[in-house]
Order: sequence, then C-alpha cells, then structure tokens
Amino acid sequence: MAADTVPPAFALHEVSKRYGAVQALEQVDLAFHRGSTTALIGSSGSGKSTVLRLLLGLDRPDQGVVSIDGNALQPSQLLALRLRTGYVIQDGGLFPHLTGLENLTLQPRQLGWDKHRIVERAAELAELTHLPADALGRYPAELSGGQRQRIALMRGLMLDPDALLLDEPLGALDPIVRHELQDELKRIFDRLGKTVLIVTHDLAEAAWFAERLILMNEGRVIQDGQLNDLRQHPASDFVRQFIAAQRSLPAVRA
Ligand code: ADP
Ligand code: MG
Repeated sequence: MAADTVPPAFALHEVSKRYGAVQALEQVDLAFHRGSTTALIGSSGSGKSTVLRLLLGLDRPDQGVVSIDGNALQPSQLLALRLRTGYVIQDGGLFPHLTGLENLTLQPRQLGWDKHRIVERAAELAELTHLPADALGRYPAELSGGQRQRIALMRGLMLDPDALLLDEPLGALDPIVRHELQDELKRIFDRLGKTVLIVTHDLAEAAWFAERLILMNEGRVIQDGQLNDLRQHPASDFVRQFIAAQRSLPAVRA
C-alpha cells in the first residue's frame, strides 16, 4: 500500500461526547498516523483526556465514529486494542499494594507469560527507562515520583504495544525530574517508532515531544499544526492568549 493510503492508526470522525451538562467534545475530527508523535494541548477541561479515553474504548462517543486502523471500533475488539495500546496517566495509576514488578506482571500473566519472560522484559525496560535495579522490588509509596512514572511507563510498554497514549505523564513531577524524563521519553519515542499521543497543558513540553500540536478548548480543536503555525498564524484570539500565557524567565536585571 502506498503511504498515503495507509489508514490512520487512530481517528475520530465528527465525534461529540457529553457528560451531563458538560459538552466534553464537540464535532471533533482527528486522525493520527502510524509511527507519528502528536501532542494534545489545552487548558484543563478542554477535552484532552476524553479524546484518549474514546480512542482506548474506555468510553463511547454520543455521536460520530472512533476508528482504529481505518475500521470503526467494535466492542469485540476492545481487549485486543488495550493489549496493543500502552496507556499512562498522570499519577501513574500503579496499584499501591503491589510492588513495582508485581504491577508490571499483571497483564503479561493474564496472557500466560512465564515468570522468566516477565522478569527479562522488566529488566530490558528498566534499562530503557533508566530505573535503578532495586526499585522494582519496592511498593509505590516507597518510590520517588520519577521512579513511579518510570514504572508506569514500563507497564505501558510491557507488551510492546504499537501505540502509547500518555495523559499528562509528567504533570506531577518536580522540574528537575520532569526535565530529565522529558529527555528520556523523547529518546524512547524516537527509538521505538511507535504511534504516540501525549497530552500536556505545557506548550514547551508539547513542542519538545512533537512537531504536530493540537490545541483544544471547550471540547473543540482550535488549531492543528506546528509550533510556528500557532505562533505566526494563530487561528483565533484563544491561540494568541494560550501562547502569551506561557511564562519564560524574566530578563536579568542590571
Ligand atoms: P482535560 O483532560 O482537557 O482536562 P477532560 O477530557 O478530562 O478534560 O474533560 C472535559 C470535560 O468533561 C470537563 O469539563 C470534565 O469535567 C468533563 N468530564 C470528563 N469526564 C467526565 C465524567 N466521567 N463525568 C462528568 N464529567 C466529565
Ligand atoms: Mg485530562
């Protein structure tokens, strides 16, 4: 198949979703191509997490169609989709009563992997994410925030999924650890070549990870383009404001 006829890995076609009185998504049309990295940005409540949840089948649209590899997502495909898609959320979502390694073991064990294979894969991913060797034996409460997020990322990668959906994975980290993990995640994305969708409300972080930025507000896509498009050709005043609201360090005073 020619490159331009390969269907997108994930797509939303005119998708709307309402929660009670809140219109979380309004007529959203988006396609994400295989192997691409895209950042979803926008203020809190703009619908970013809803996009990821719909693409994972954790929630269903009221209107419109979610499609995976060009086919409308069917309930019968949900399990397979989850196995092919790593999902990481802000606080990592690790089970507190399980050690790091036990957290990594759940899905592979369901698939019948033996202990040896699980430990080997965990070691491979610990190396990839620069997790200290002893961390896997500890419970989440005994780990630093950065270590917890490394393990959450490892859990998302355990089954070597085709895609990674990351929902503010670095949002809860202090600036130094966050910076370090930004570097490492970028290296991992470049090296693994997976389809990556990363949600952040930080424009600089978005631009660090992805060329394609999708800016959302109140359930709609406001602009879909590169950082320079947003800066030089903002689609609306909202885009202008969003860019202006990114604070940089004040100039050094004499
Ligand atoms: P974001 O991730 O951009 O902060 P979300 O996609 O989580 O935004 O939410 C979009 C809107 O939908 C918000 O107003 C949020 O409060 C609302 N919302 C999301 N999920 C639910 C839910 N399960 N029940 C009620 N309201 C929800
Ligand atoms: Mg969110």
